[in-house]
Amino acid sequence: KEKEGKKVTSKDKEKEKEKEKEKEKEKEKDRKRDGAVAGAMGKQRMLHPGNVLMERYEVQGLIGGGGFAQIYLAVDNTSKQNCAIKIEPTSSDIRRMKLESAVLLVLRGKTGVPEIKAMGKAPLGHYIVMQLVGRNLSDLRRQLPNKKISSRTLYRAMLQVARTLSLAHGAGFLHRDLKPSNCCVGFVDVTRIYLIDFGLTRQYLDKGDMVRKPRVGVGMRGTLRYMSLDAHARKDLGANNDLVAFLYTTIELGDGSLPWTRTRSADDIIKLKQAYVNEKLCAKQPKLTKLAEYIESLNYYSIPDYDKIFSLLEECNPTDLREDECYDWQKH
Ligand code: ADP
Repeated sequence: KEKEGKKVTSKDKEKEKEKEKEKEKEKEKDRKRDGAVAGAMGKQRMLHPGNVLMERYEVQGLIGGGGFAQIYLAVDNTSKQNCAIKIEPTSSDIRRMKLESAVLLVLRGKTGVPEIKAMGKAPLGHYIVMQLVGRNLSDLRRQLPNKKISSRTLYRAMLQVARTLSLAHGAGFLHRDLKPSNCCVGFVDVTRIYLIDFGLTRQYLDKGDMVRKPRVGVGMRGTLRYMSLDAHARKDLGANNDLVAFLYTTIELGDGSLPWTRTRSADDIIKLKQAYVNEKLCAKQPKLTKLAEYIESLNYYSIPDYDKIFSLLEECNPTDLREDECYDWQKH
């Protein structure tokens, strides 16, 4: 009997292969849903290796793409340093690119924000030249042996994201599309985390640093999986909603998935987001519950207490964590 149990027939092998294929398909879907590279990779290229912009930035090749933009690796022939070029087709709404460069200029030199180096216009699109960053946390998580970021790495990484987010909010800007694929490690120092893609940003403080009045009937912003219930309800978003996306991002990176990862319909995702709050959402990372409750207590007008958020994240670190410990992706 035992022998039979172990026997592998060619049918079994076929089944195995099918299963593998299914798994691959699921993975691919996951990647696509995440909105990252897949999209732009198939589209017409706006730049080509060898193109030189501003008599200095020499294009090497495509490295990524999102909903609208294509991201290219380039070499600055003057400084001999690598950089990234984000280019959007001339046909797309120029306001997005203008807002993104405005945010990058205001946040220039701030920790965790890729430095903007230049802006310009090529025949096929408007572009921003910026500091090159490394891989994003969505890809890095998937490449770890159990597809989860360990508690020894996760909260140190997310604390950096929280600090950068607080700087953006402090300068009056919301991110509105925070998710694992928008958090990247440094190109050289992979223990530094950068927040990228301010393409959906909104200035939420007015000139007097007051929270602007919420508008009614606004368009939906963000990525289905990570957006807050307010975003689903098409409400105008505040700093609290960036923090909800921050929390969902942290849960996904630590758990390996969110309760609605495999859910397609927005209505079903909403139901799951309503059902999974606080302890239930943090069931696998109970130390995050206090942070979840704090974020849940905020509304559109709240000015979040970032110091409280930082210390709640620090409390999630294992007690025996050493400051110089490697990050997961430095080990595997
Ligand atoms: P979109 O606004 O179209 O979503 P993103 O700015 O999110 O585009 O960029 C898409 C992907 O390109 C990111 O997930 C990241 O992997 C890569 N990328 C973006 N900016 C940089 C950068 N400065 N350096 C290296 N890679 C980048």
